Amino acid sequence: MSHVFHRTPARTLPRIVAAQGLRMTDADGRTYLDAVSGGAAVSSIGHGDPRITDAITAQLGQVAYAHNGFFTSDAAEELADTLIAGAPEGLSRVIYCSGGSEAIESALKLARQTFVERGQPGKGKVIARRQSYHGATMGALSIGGNVPRKAPYAPMLFDAPLIAPCYPYRDQAEGETLEAYAIRAADALEEQILAEGPETVAAFVAEPVVGATLGCVPAAPGYLKRIREICDRYDVLLVFDEVMCGGGRTGFAFACLEDGGSPDILVIAKGLGGGYQPIGAVLASQAIVDTIVDGSGSLKQGFTYMAHPVACAAALAVQKVIAEDGLVEAAAARGAQLRAGLDAAFGQHPHVGNIRGRGLFQGLEFVADRETKAPFDPSLAFNARLKANAFADGLMVYPMPGTIDGINGDHVVLAPAFVATAADIDEIVERLAVAIDRTVQEINA
Ligand code: PMP
Repeated sequence: MSHVFHRTPARTLPRIVAAQGLRMTDADGRTYLDAVSGGAAVSSIGHGDPRITDAITAQLGQVAYAHNGFFTSDAAEELADTLIAGAPEGLSRVIYCSGGSEAIESALKLARQTFVERGQPGKGKVIARRQSYHGATMGALSIGGNVPRKAPYAPMLFDAPLIAPCYPYRDQAEGETLEAYAIRAADALEEQILAEGPETVAAFVAEPVVGATLGCVPAAPGYLKRIREICDRYDVLLVFDEVMCGGGRTGFAFACLEDGGSPDILVIAKGLGGGYQPIGAVLASQAIVDTIVDGSGSLKQGFTYMAHPVACAAALAVQKVIAEDGLVEAAAARGAQLRAGLDAAFGQHPHVGNIRGRGLFQGLEFVADRETKAPFDPSLAFNARLKANAFADGLMVYPMPGTIDGINGDHVVLAPAFVATAADIDEIVERLAVAIDRTVQEINA
């Protein structure tokens, strides 16, 4: 019996013993094709790159740990230089932490502290969006819109107003252009800010490309720019959560760059350390840094493992590999191939309602009926069956239930490592088709 309290404690999980590139092997010798970077869009440069092992070993040989209240390190400094060099204009400093949820907490607290220091203590509310996930900690859950993950903890969370996501497949009106829809969706933020009272709102948080909860839905053209204007109008800080879509995955170093998005605060994790070490980061604008420097002079929160030298060394090595091997460009090229393959295989599929995404971050939304977009009955658990069928066949994909806000948009996320070959991409599409066929047969039986 296992003494590990897994997410599914009654299940026996295969033990993973080896991984190279996109292939993972368990203790029974079964191999898996990893179409989702370790299971959650993390292992962006693939498994087992010896350059990262070398960088980690070198850092361990130098110094494993030093508290960030006493020291900085070459790894932390060089990594911050690298991130800021490629970041949207205006971002100038990096706060480190150990993962996505911690990074979101840090971002929320940074936004709040900024207004406290500016003498606007009334500004404390955070507006976010429905059908979103920003992490498992209490603050991150509070601003999230993933009902099943949030509901059990309701009495422990703070209230955060949630507006509709930008989700053209479901929400674009008949005859409405995509551009007009983008403006309408963004204007929901303005309405919400006015309803709350602009003097009470500190921040708005959104994913430029929604990951797990919607299945790779990018903001419609014009949405992020309109959001920026609205935030400026009401003195609200704009926070982009790129924990899943950032790090080069969309074919851009940061996902919002494709849309000309310019946040005040940008949150990354997952692909930052590529799974070689747990690490997250918050990029903050110079204006925010100036506020803190000219005010109290210190961040009012932090974690013991902030700027952990080994985590920073691993993430720095990952960034170097991405640059040296041209992996952002590879994500764009392989992403285009993946998308073309998905369109060809499933563009007319009776149960695939929508194919969307950017780069190597592509999602399919499943429906019972293509014409009406009617979802599958949630009790059929289409997404869970698909995951199980794919996994039984040695393919790792990331399906999510869509029983959120009354819409059952069962979907699957594909997020393979940027080192995927053309043959890997073809194989992912072929094997996904087999898993989908089997799942549809089961449901129809
Ligand atoms: N934000 C987004 C968009 C995410 O997808 C996730 C994780 N799935 C998180 C935040 C939380 O990150 P972590 O699990 O590393 O705490």
